[in-house]
Amino acid sequence: MKELIIIKEGEIALKGLNKSNFEDALIRNLRHRLKSLGRFVYKRSQSTIVIMPEDDNTDLDTAMERVSKVFGAAAVCRAVTAPKDFEEICAAAVPYIAESIMQAKTFKVEAKRSDKKFPMNSPEICKELGGRILDAYPHLNVDVKNPDVTVTVEIRDTNAYIHAGNLPAAGGIPVGTSGKALLLLSGGIDSPVAAYMMAKRGIQLAAVHFVSPPYTSERARLKAERLCEKLAPWCGDMPFYCVPFTEIQEALRGNCPEELFTVIMRRLMLEIAQRIAGKNDMHALVTGESVGQVASQTMGAIVCTDDVCRMPVFRPVIGMDKIEITALARKIDTFDISVEPYEDCCTVFTPKHPKTRPSLSEVRTAQDSFDYEPLIEKAVNGAELKIIKNSF
Ligand code: ATP
Ligand code: MG
Repeated sequence: MKELIIIKEGEIALKGLNKSNFEDALIRNLRHRLKSLGRFVYKRSQSTIVIMPEDDNTDLDTAMERVSKVFGAAAVCRAVTAPKDFEEICAAAVPYIAESIMQAKTFKVEAKRSDKKFPMNSPEICKELGGRILDAYPHLNVDVKNPDVTVTVEIRDTNAYIHAGNLPAAGGIPVGTSGKALLLLSGGIDSPVAAYMMAKRGIQLAAVHFVSPPYTSERARLKAERLCEKLAPWCGDMPFYCVPFTEIQEALRGNCPEELFTVIMRRLMLEIAQRIAGKNDMHALVTGESVGQVASQTMGAIVCTDDVCRMPVFRPVIGMDKIEITALARKIDTFDISVEPYEDCCTVFTPKHPKTRPSLSEVRTAQDSFDYEPLIEKAVNGAELKIIKNSF
C-alpha cells in the first residue's frame, strides 16, 4: 500500500498571474517542515499539492501533523494510491477506508476524473465502488446529501488516489509571501496570538523581547524563547532579539512623572523596535494590544505610542476579547507557558495610577525633558540575537 498527502490550496487558488509564486512559497515551507522525516516528491496540479514519500515506513502521522500547521493550505488529506484500474482501485480502497468508516452510519462515493480516458465515467465509478463498500461494510447506508463519510476517488494522470475525507488545515497564505515584520513578544497571552495571526497572512516574523535584569529574571527571557519555539511550527524559524531595558526603565523612574511612566516606556519600546526592524529589512511592527484591555491600551494611550512610529504597527488582536484570544492561545499551545508567573519588564515599576487619557502634548513634553537618545541607541546595539529553530 502506498500512501501520500494531498494539500488543497485555499486562498492561493484564487490568485491570478502570481499564483505560482505563492505555490513555490508553500512548497518551500512544506519541504522545510518535512525534511527531517525523509525524502518526498512534491507535485502540483489543479490547486492541489501532492506530497509523495520516497521511502517506505515514512512517518505520515507526524507529517500530517506538521503539514496541518503550514499556512497556505485550506485542507489536507491522507490518501492511498492505486493503478488506474477499477479492480485495483477497489482492492486498495475497501481496506484503506476501514478506520474512517467503522464509526460511520452513512457514506457516499465521489469521483473526480481528471483523466477523461478512464473507461468508466464518474457516476459509474461511484455506483460500482459504493456497491463494493456496502458488501464489505454491511452496517452502512448510502446518503448522498449528508453522509458521515465521503470516500473520494481521484483519477489523475498517472494514478488513482483514494481518501476518506479532508481535514481542515491552517488556512491563510504561505509565510514569506507578505514581507517581514518585527513582533514585540512579551511573556503574556496576547502577543504570541498576534504572531500566529500575522504569520497566517504570510508575514515572516522576528521577535523582540525586552528584559530588565535584575528586576526580571533569566526565566522570563527563557519563557519568551519557549514561546518562540511554540510559534515556530506556524511561523517558521524566528530570529529572537533580546533587548536590555533596565537602564531605560531606571532613567524613566528618575525623570518622568509616575502616571506617564507606562506610556513613555511603550513609546521607547516601539522606538527601539522600529530601529531594530529598520536595520534588518523589516517594514512593520506587530503587538498583542487589545483596545481597552489595560491602561496602556486605551485609545488615548495608543494614540500616544503610535506618535513615535515611522512604520505601520499591526495589532491583529485589537478587537478581540480575552476569551477569544485565550481560545487561540490554547489552539497554538502557547497558553500554558504564557500563564507561568514570571515578571515582565512592563510589570516592574508599574505606576499605581497610570493616566488612561494622557494628552499627546504632555507626554511629548515629559519625554523631552530627558535625553533618552543615548540609552535608546545603547539598547538597540546591545540587542542579543538568537535564531529560534523549528525543533518540533
Ligand atoms: P501580552 O499578553 O502580549 O503580554 P498584555 O495584555 O500583557 O499583552 P501589555 O503588557 O500592555 O499587555 O503589552 C502590550 C504589548 O506590548 C504586548 O502584547 C507586546 O506586544 C508588547 N510587550 C509588552 N511587554 C513586552 C516585552 N517585555 N517585550 C516585548 N514586547 C512587549
Ligand atoms: Mg504583558
